[in-house]
Amino acid sequence: MPQLQWRVEDAGNTLYLTFDDGPIPEVTPWVLDILAKWNAKATFFCVGENIIKHPEIFEQLKSEGHSIGSHTHNHLSGWSSSNRDYLRNVTQAATLANSSLFRPPYGRITPMQVRLLKNRYKIVMWDVLSGDFDPAIEPQDCLDNVIRNTRSGSIIVFHDSIKARKNLEYALPKILEHFCTKGYVFSSLKNSITEQENAAVHAVTTMQISSMAKL
Ligand SMILES: [Zn+2]
Repeated sequence: MPQLQWRVEDAGNTLYLTFDDGPIPEVTPWVLDILAKWNAKATFFCVGENIIKHPEIFEQLKSEGHSIGSHTHNHLSGWSSSNRDYLRNVTQAATLANSSLFRPPYGRITPMQVRLLKNRYKIVMWDVLSGDFDPAIEPQDCLDNVIRNTRSGSIIVFHDSIKARKNLEYALPKILEHFCTKGYVFSSLKNSITEQENAAVHAVTTMQISSMAKL
């Protein structure tokens, strides 16, 4: 699916860290501290209901210069949702996040859903999966995974979630140290949307959802 972004081309020495599933008080502020220590910027794909639960952490993400993307309102899998429910859930979170960047939970999105979303969102996947969320993966393997597979322009997935905490807390500081001392820079992905555009996106998607309801 060429409409999906897996990596940034011609990125030189720039790498892109992404964090899915937050923001949550148990993990996200810790991530922010360690990123600040290395002057690294990242992109946070937030779940809409977590934005509502933890607005102060959401504000902190923005005020510290990170990019925000959305990750549906209730962490839905596109494979097990109707297109109508999926679109509605995507729109709900994207409106809260005020972002054109979208990452499908579990990476599960159907070609039809891509078609419905691609004109309004940049659908961001990854080329490096840390595996931090998997309890079967040891912290050292999580670290080795990322170090071995990261190259110029890589989009790296971590999770600011309870499940990922153990691997994340081990691997992230070492990854930052490893790549920063080699001269790499960590940047956020660009969210091109403005408040005005977001209102327009919301209106169009609402129209699309109601016309799908008639099918
Ligand atoms: Zn997720």
